Amino acid sequence: MAAKEVRVQYPQFTTIRVDLVFDGEVPQPPAPQSIVLHPPARAYFVYPCPYAGCTGELDLAANVDHIAEQGKARAAGHARCNGERHGRQGKGPCDLHIEYSIAVGK
Ligand SMILES: [Zn+2]
Repeated sequence: MAAKEVRVQYPQFTTIRVDLVFDGEVPQPPAPQSIVLHPPARAYFVYPCPYAGCTGELDLAANVDHIAEQGKARAAGHARCNGERHGRQGKGPCDLHIEYSIAVGK
């Protein structure tokens, strides 16, 4: 099912900004990411793990819904990548630590 546009799904928001910071017990964590969605964009909040070859995805759709339902301006939390990727010891759980924050403009 294709995601609806932001202006349809969340007409009360003028922008939705998602910041992802990757960290953990790795010497060189992936670069942080910032995504800003405007009303014509698709309200799609699934982000692939930044590691090439990892099967993990971070799905923040429920978090954005929660902000909308609660009338909040922002939310933050953290998660671990649920994917698998190839490492030095072969395929194993990715377990990348992901800090996310979501801020909406009204
Ligand atoms: Zn991963």
